[in-house]
Amino acid sequence: MSDFTTLSLSDAVRGLRDKKFSSREITQAHLDAMEAARGLNAFLTETPEKALAMADASDAKLAKGEGGALEGAPIGIKDLFCVDGVKTCAGSKILGEFIPPYESTVTSNLWADGAVMLGKLNMDEFAMGSSNENSAFGNVISPWRRGNSDTDMVPGGSSGGSATAVSADLCLAATATDTGGSIRQPAAFTGTVGIKPTYGRCSRWGIVAFASSLDQAGPITKTVEDAALMLQSMSGYDAKDSTSLQRDVPDFVSACTRSLKGMRIGIPKEYRMDGMPEAIETLWEQGINWLREAGCEIVDVSLPHTKYALPAYYIVAPAEASSNLARYDGMRYGTRVEGHDLNSTYERTRAQGFGEEVRRRIMIGTYVLSAGFYDAYYIRAQKVRAKIAEDFTKAWQSCDALLTPTTPSAAFGIGEVSDDPVQMYLNDVFTVTANLAGLPGISVPAALDHQGLPLGLQVIGKALDEETCFAVGGALERAAEFTASDTDGPAHRPYRTD
Ligand code: GLN
Repeated sequence: MSDFTTLSLSDAVRGLRDKKFSSREITQAHLDAMEAARGLNAFLTETPEKALAMADASDAKLAKGEGGALEGAPIGIKDLFCVDGVKTCAGSKILGEFIPPYESTVTSNLWADGAVMLGKLNMDEFAMGSSNENSAFGNVISPWRRGNSDTDMVPGGSSGGSATAVSADLCLAATATDTGGSIRQPAAFTGTVGIKPTYGRCSRWGIVAFASSLDQAGPITKTVEDAALMLQSMSGYDAKDSTSLQRDVPDFVSACTRSLKGMRIGIPKEYRMDGMPEAIETLWEQGINWLREAGCEIVDVSLPHTKYALPAYYIVAPAEASSNLARYDGMRYGTRVEGHDLNSTYERTRAQGFGEEVRRRIMIGTYVLSAGFYDAYYIRAQKVRAKIAEDFTKAWQSCDALLTPTTPSAAFGIGEVSDDPVQMYLNDVFTVTANLAGLPGISVPAALDHQGLPLGLQVIGKALDEETCFAVGGALERAAEFTASDTDGPAHRPYRTD
């Protein structure tokens, strides 16, 4: 591992612009790090030739004093984003060797700004999961260890490949997606920063759909400033996605250092759960104190429908997934398992192509949408969703943003929770509300627990107010003195690569 891989994205971009090093040098350093860390299973597809060609093109631009905001910076792409000519399988076997003939809008934006593509990152199949154990291509291993134990830890999910790759310095930053917590939870588990923007901020065009009314793209990075830089590039209106918002993208980077004087931060009492580990309580208290010291006024707020958020999510998301995943029938994409007639071909293809968790979600989704149950489950869940959004609207009368823990616990070992789906679903208890209400939420690493595992704090903002998330996130990061780019800091422990 060379020093190039421990740079933050922002420092790398500055160094490239100042010609301190070339894109080819830092790209090659990351390709070497990826090769040495194949045991973590973070990348599903490595694209070294594409990476070096893009790096050379960036170096040519930089030599002329030209180039975009991310010119020459090597990044990883979650396997949910279609990249023209590069195998994209959403962590699933059903897509087989699918090679998209087009590019997602988010990745097009990143390439237009000069980013360099290192490869496609592992993930839970179709983004369903909280630990990356649902990938059809094997679980991702977190570079973190629990104390001195040799147990392999989960990186969180579904963007576990993105979180491991950033945390283990295999890329400067990564794209990710978040339907119920899949950017913020893996960021919290790996000591990295992750932001899910407002629904509609990033175009969903060319991102394999899970639950279309909840899915949003966002970055996982080493610092808050890096997240701002990435999101700035990823965001923007796109006529190809009818839910993308026709709004200007503000200057996210300058928001990171904005003063918090006089800002009101809400503490939702319903997020204080029974049985929550003491470390999470302590972390939250610490976060409250940091923000008070930064000049914020702390106010208690109530989000009374929080307890219904997870049940509502696990109706709405599977319902939409069952509809979105109906297209994988063996006729148009990827895998086909021949049967004795058309129906049996469909059945065999889907039974063999989808993994267990995806099949469970399709069955739940089909059930809650079926005649006779539609009103009782789906319509009811939609009403709950409206109530949850209303809770936030009321909270904004007394505060500007909310502070909560990102997850109810630190990372767990591989295999420790995987046979209990309901326990696994509880990982998202603090994150799903922002998806149901369409609000932005950032996770910032803030402490290590007694076993040396990272914990994250979440800041939820008003719709379209990512700037406040970045301002509060930046203040938390400065107070915690904890960033994944600080090689001497607590986030940089010796990690495993095999
Ligand atoms: N863990 C949640 C789920 O399995 C969220 C996933 C996501 O945000 N993509 O549905």
